[in-house]
Amino acid sequence: MGKECKIGRHREDYTYTIYDARGIPLGIVCNKCEAEVKSQFRPDVLTDNNYWSDEPIEADEPEEWF
Ligand SMILES: [Zn+2]
Repeated sequence: MGKECKIGRHREDYTYTIYDARGIPLGIVCNKCEAEVKSQFRPDVLTDNNYWSDEPIEADEPEEWF
């Protein structure tokens, strides 16, 4: 049994997880609703892994030396 797609209308269809440009899962879709689900996200989320550029990218953790 496959999982229901994110929209939930297509129980009979093969489902798969789609990911954004950073590899973060956006949801489970089937090929009937993949475009619809993706349309709910900003296009740059899907194509540009520098989105959310207002967040600092560098980690602030100090390196540990032994
Ligand atoms: Zn679907």
